[in-house]
Amino acid sequence: VFVSGEATILHADLDAFFASVEQRDDPRLRGRPVIVGGGVVMAASYEARAHGVRSAMGGARARRLCPDAVIVEPHFSAYVEASRAVFDIFRNAAPVVEAMSIDEAFLDVSGLERISGRPAEIAARLRREVREQVGLPLSVGVARTKHLAKVASGAAKPDGLLVVPPDGEEAFLHPLPVEALWGVGPKTTEKLNARGIRTVGDLARRSEGTLVSLLGRASGRHAHALAHNRDPRRVERTRGRRSFGSQCALGRSTTSFESLDVTLIALVDRVTRRMRAKGRAGRTVVLRLRYGDYTRITRSRTLPFPTAASETVLATARGLLAAARPDIERRGITLVGVAVSGIDGAGVQLELPLDGPDTAALDLVLDQVRERFGPGAVTRAGLLRRGPRLAAWLFPGEDHDV
Ligand SMILES: [Mg+2]
Repeated sequence: VFVSGEATILHADLDAFFASVEQRDDPRLRGRPVIVGGGVVMAASYEARAHGVRSAMGGARARRLCPDAVIVEPHFSAYVEASRAVFDIFRNAAPVVEAMSIDEAFLDVSGLERISGRPAEIAARLRREVREQVGLPLSVGVARTKHLAKVASGAAKPDGLLVVPPDGEEAFLHPLPVEALWGVGPKTTEKLNARGIRTVGDLARRSEGTLVSLLGRASGRHAHALAHNRDPRRVERTRGRRSFGSQCALGRSTTSFESLDVTLIALVDRVTRRMRAKGRAGRTVVLRLRYGDYTRITRSRTLPFPTAASETVLATARGLLAAARPDIERRGITLVGVAVSGIDGAGVQLELPLDGPDTAALDLVLDQVRERFGPGAVTRAGLLRRGPRLAAWLFPGEDHDV
């Protein structure tokens, strides 16, 4: 696959987002190591990172690594407001903006040269505007592909800009450590290092077959493609999506109402986690059921506010499920699905006040821990009791969109 043309994809990523907002809002914190979140580290300033502190690390370990750190409680409304302001700047800069999370987006600036200048100029302006208007450091990578742009913004951090020209891609990519590749986590890195594969260049010299046998089919192919700089994905406008959903077919012989509730918890977790990863919220909770005789029903409830909070969606879905209980017990059940629709059109949106900050904080921390350490790292108590099978089922690769 040859992607032709110029480097016109920007990956823009706020540096140490939560910690930077705290330093912006309290001058006493500037230049000092700052850790957001006392229990689990939700964010660490670069001064704290210099001591080895990382997101999703336990608070006790973080304090041992960096005894001088100032530990602050998160201020979610400030983060949401900052994110909104930053995304407004992004949308002014480019016609196509794909939100990846609350502090990160891809921008496609192709065709803008006459109006806005070259991609590197647009990127520099973006950084300046975010700094001047919102008071936060933003790093930007510019490249032909999303993957390279993402890797470039990582290499540019903190507070940097890096353009990878089309004729300099291999020279940029090959010396990097394998963990710099998008999607290569600690476990994969360990496996690769054990075989003497340390850099992306090392990776590129192995055949796809070798990598598949080492990492499994999906990861092996993925790693091979990225090492060879193949990434055909386009920047897609986030606004397009209208609902997030997931469903689970159940064996005919089942199912106690209690185990149905456990399935519901797992479904809600998957749906809301994906919504939060995309920075989206929705107002309508939809429950889909298929009875033992394979007839289907859909029940929904619209909330007064958009949400991506697990607890809120779960409470609503449970209400809908409880209303269907007599029918379920009479007719049996073969499928349950949960969706959230009425997705907020504004892009990044995290619901906060109505559930209180604790719930939102818990959701964010769980997401971060899973992202860093894998799906099995954290699970709800209700799922643990069910043993590893359902817990593993909770996070297989792709979600089914209802
Ligand atoms: Mg960031």
